[in-house]
Amino acid sequence: MNRVMNIAIAVACTLVMPVQAATDDPVVREQVSGNVWMLSGGGYANISVLAGEGEALMVDSKSAAVADQIRAHVREISGGGVKYLINGHEHPDHTDGNQGFGEDGSVIIAHEEVLNVLSAGQRGGPPSPKAALPVITIPPQGNLTLHFAGETVHIISAPPAHSAGNIIVFYETANVLHLGDLFGPDRYPVIASGTIDGFISADEQALMLANEDTKVIAGVGALSTVGQLRNYLDMLKSTRGRVAALIAQGKSGEEVLAAGVTAEFDATWGDPSRFLPAVYRDLSAP
Ligand SMILES: [Zn+2]
Repeated sequence: MNRVMNIAIAVACTLVMPVQAATDDPVVREQVSGNVWMLSGGGYANISVLAGEGEALMVDSKSAAVADQIRAHVREISGGGVKYLINGHEHPDHTDGNQGFGEDGSVIIAHEEVLNVLSAGQRGGPPSPKAALPVITIPPQGNLTLHFAGETVHIISAPPAHSAGNIIVFYETANVLHLGDLFGPDRYPVIASGTIDGFISADEQALMLANEDTKVIAGVGALSTVGQLRNYLDMLKSTRGRVAALIAQGKSGEEVLAAGVTAEFDATWGDPSRFLPAVYRDLSAP
């Protein structure tokens, strides 16, 4: 994929989640399981919080505009602040709030690609300030386990799927997967700097950690079930197989888009007009 296309897709990924005025769309919380909570609203990607006694672990940081709302929620459920901040991947809707939490003293943990991207500057922007950068990084194919507040938190590098820096977070005791944009209950994947095969393998990896009771947190959308994740993986595999078959028949990108290969899925995941061209480009790349 060329760089211009990559940037265009990455921008589109952010544009679907504008930061909204806090009063119109406040950050709200719901208890997911045990000490794990989900914060949604306030624009940008969903957050998960593992509440300890007087301290917390958090995945993703929304935007600086709603940092005080996030801090208030974390204080109400843990009595303290964010000790560890994990970024699900590098995009601004997951990392824009990093600086404020870093200045608060949070230890930021992420895939090493997140550090590479933020320290170089993202989407033509300036390098992120030091306080926003991860200080503990996980290499590709690596993983890290945190033992915090009676919970075992698995942080696992996923192959490039949505982005090159995406990870799987699994709260083992609470039985909660936080998948960020590796999963979406009601929109098709955005393949920004990864591949459809990376998506399939990341979600297969996530499902291997899950059982029937596992709760799933997506980057965008409501708290979900493992059944919804399974359906998502089936959709990815079916779409990949159908697009590959049409490419083998010599069909063009326009013909693939017109063939209705996702018709049975559109009621759940919406408009495939960005997803299908991305799969086509990926599978037809030399
Ligand atoms: Zn993203």
